[in-house]
Amino acid sequence: YAPLAEVDPEVKNIIDKEAWRQFSGLELIASENLTSQAVMEANGSILTNKYSEGLPGARYYGGNEWIDELEVLCRKRALEAFHLDPAKWGVNVQPYSGSVCAPFAALTALLQPQDRLMGLGLPDGGHLTHGYYTAKKKMTASSIYFQSFPYGLDSTTQLIDYKQLASQAKIFKPQLVICGASAYPRDWDYAALRAVADEHGAFLMADIAHTSGLVAAGELADPFQYCDVVTTTTHKTLRGPRAGLIFFRKDSEKAKDLEKRVNDAVFPACQGGPHNNTIAGIATALKQACSPTWKAYAKQVIANAKTLGDELVGNGYKLQTKGTDNHLVLWDLRPLGLTGSKLEKLCDLVGITINKNAVSGDASAQTPGGIRLGTSALTSRDMVEGDMKVVAGFLNRAVQLALVLQKEAGSKLLKDFVRVAVTEEEGKEGAKGV
Ligand code: PLP
Repeated sequence: YAPLAEVDPEVKNIIDKEAWRQFSGLELIASENLTSQAVMEANGSILTNKYSEGLPGARYYGGNEWIDELEVLCRKRALEAFHLDPAKWGVNVQPYSGSVCAPFAALTALLQPQDRLMGLGLPDGGHLTHGYYTAKKKMTASSIYFQSFPYGLDSTTQLIDYKQLASQAKIFKPQLVICGASAYPRDWDYAALRAVADEHGAFLMADIAHTSGLVAAGELADPFQYCDVVTTTTHKTLRGPRAGLIFFRKDSEKAKDLEKRVNDAVFPACQGGPHNNTIAGIATALKQACSPTWKAYAKQVIANAKTLGDELVGNGYKLQTKGTDNHLVLWDLRPLGLTGSKLEKLCDLVGITINKNAVSGDASAQTPGGIRLGTSALTSRDMVEGDMKVVAGFLNRAVQLALVLQKEAGSKLLKDFVRVAVTEEEGKEGAKGV
């Protein structure tokens, strides 16, 4: 029972440094959030000791009386959080993550190897796991084991080009259409995607990893009205521990056995024993998402993202789609001649955490021309619109500094600046005067 500080001061020290980084800086990564003490307590509990392959009431190990109770409770809360009728929808709460174990298990449940799927392309804001590949390489299991064809954005509006998607689908004839994204600031037209899926007898799946907390609050369109399967991570806007959920229709016309297909795809097809400590954390996070204050949180996340976007536009910057409907803002730096990587690095040095991101039309995802910003974490720290104006001011100053460095001595000075400052941070010599 000795505490971590005594057993392993090195690890404790790293955790303390990361805690300081998280709480002293401004966390603007759209896929992150700051989960509650209660969720972390559940996640760090003795439940990590238990093996429980299988499902409640049908386990491959003894001693699962309380684990069964926990998993049943978690499922019940998941359905409640998304206002789903248990007669029509079921949920598997065991996926370890939002990549391998939520979307990939869902693909395993819905498709045969080499079947055809269509998802939003990565350079247009889609996620790797929705079939991404490059001319040189099939990058993820979703493109290695299935054939995929990406749909994209309208080059003028930068909104999803539903018409083009429909005409591409006529040629590709998908068996699965995936909606959902990692960097799309607008809401989805699920009805339009359902129509495309129906035309080809395809399944429709939404991966609402980013927006699930906002969907649960009723602040965004409801994918459950149209989809056969909905997956999500639990740690982004939903503010839980790191994991995934797969919701499936029990009353699907297309497949009467979706429940068994999804459950079998999670275990044993894609993973082994569930992480019960994580399931406890998810259950607690879902209780919070069912609470009366959740709607106010979700509303504030969106209001903050809108304010942040408006302020950046007010300072003369360009946003993809000119604004946002959700928690994220996609900032196009290309008109400034600055890459997302450089601004990300510079912001790291001043305690603002952001991430470089492709913007529509970028040639390479490796050196993207944009930055993705999200307001979930700052809103969890009770920040409101006025705070976002201050944050936008900081970002403006960071860009101006990067531009000065770049203009005065070419990008070499910026590189030197970053190199020297990183050296300084690592405690090595040679960083004076920066
Ligand atoms: N799906 C979407 C849409 C995502 O944005 C992400 C992560 O950013 C994932 C899945 C993957 O989640 P994880 O990191 O838990 O594997």
